[in-house]
Amino acid sequence: MLGEKEARVFLLRLGFMSGRSDARFVRAGWPNLDIGDAFTAGTRLHTFSGVVRVETVFNTYDFRKKRFSAEFLWRDSVEAAEFSKTRLASEPVCWTQLGYASGYASEFFDTLIVYKEIECAAQGHSHCRVVGKPADGWGLNDPEVMLFRERIDVADDISTVPASRSSAARAASTSLSSLDRLILMPVRDRLDRLAATTLPVLITGAPGTGRGIAARYLHRGSAATATNLRRVVGMQVDLALCAELARPVKATRRAPQRETIVIDAVETIPADIQPHFARAVEESMAEGGPRILAIADDCQESEMPAFSTELHSVLSPLHVRMPPLAEREGERLALAHAMLQELAVRMGLEPPSFEAGAKKLIETQLWPGNLRQMRGVLIAVLNSLITGATISAAQIEIALARLAPNPRNSATGSGKSAIDPNQLLGSDGFSLNALEHSLYEIAMVQAQGNLSAAARMLGLTRAQLAYRIDNARRSK
Ligand SMILES: [Zn+2]
Repeated sequence: MLGEKEARVFLLRLGFMSGRSDARFVRAGWPNLDIGDAFTAGTRLHTFSGVVRVETVFNTYDFRKKRFSAEFLWRDSVEAAEFSKTRLASEPVCWTQLGYASGYASEFFDTLIVYKEIECAAQGHSHCRVVGKPADGWGLNDPEVMLFRERIDVADDISTVPASRSSAARAASTSLSSLDRLILMPVRDRLDRLAATTLPVLITGAPGTGRGIAARYLHRGSAATATNLRRVVGMQVDLALCAELARPVKATRRAPQRETIVIDAVETIPADIQPHFARAVEESMAEGGPRILAIADDCQESEMPAFSTELHSVLSPLHVRMPPLAEREGERLALAHAMLQELAVRMGLEPPSFEAGAKKLIETQLWPGNLRQMRGVLIAVLNSLITGATISAAQIEIALARLAPNPRNSATGSGKSAIDPNQLLGSDGFSLNALEHSLYEIAMVQAQGNLSAAARMLGLTRAQLAYRIDNARRSK
């Protein structure tokens, strides 16, 4: 009925959701079980359930580093057996099982793991053979990975919106990227609990902490009823909007329409409008009107000065606070890493890796400008990176200094000159080669990737610099 392509998506997704759900069940049911054992239980669950007998070819993983690589043989696959009753398949057909394996592993690694079936019993092989890797491991623009990102790994979206072509439906079924998953990690449980409610939620935090992502996540969670997301800046809230809230448009016969309205900078709602707005939100709640998600700057719960008392009591009962990066110790590198992957893909580059020094610098920075600052720094670094090069601490320092919002911020260390010879000589693992190489890199970054300009800065000719960069790279 669906056609082969959509049927495959349907079954992959069904399997993916079952796999994720079983993984959650195993983790919650046996919290003290070694994570490796809990993970490999997936293969046994698959066997017990009578779907397929799993035989491990190899299975190597490191949960902390999100490294994973596995190959399994599947024997007596029900999907392959069912298919081959009629004819020999031209392509592998164990779609549900493949989705299950991917979903189970993705839940454990908290990143998208994609399995591919490279041989299938339905094609006449004696068994099916599947290979699993993290999404990034399949390379850029892998069509199967893209399919998983767009259509399969959407377990967080409980939307019942059918696969229509409307932009609203597409928006509702957009999956949570690995970056967004990391950004929301500290508040994910809370958001999940709030997603089901239609009551207003107040999201506070410093700018750039991902408040908008949290709002979108809540919207998607309630997408079974809410189909449209509208953003309004507090300053723009007027009596017309209040009237619209208080008298919600009746659901059409076609489908229940429910809007989510995100009020950005809710503290900027004009003081004379605030009481009207508070009343309108209350009426809207009673009438099944739009859902209100309010975003406000970070403030102590006891003092929300810009809010009128009425507005405060309507909006603040359900409150989520996005922590700033300064409070996210131990997570900053993972965030930067996921952000780098995403940006590189968007900029059409092969994602580079961070050198050890850069990793340390990223983790020790407090990032007062939060994710926005981190994104700016990474874009600047990527923009000036030599193809195939790794990202050094010096490059991060330069971008930090260049993008520092004001000179006072250099007090945090980000604005200091990138190279201090005294400090360098005293530091572990110093080498003249490394220094030489980082000078070339700094020159390249400052010259925005222009080799001639970088050479001029260093008092070299273009050819000399090209030769030296090449040599430095080889001696590394
Ligand atoms: Zn198969």
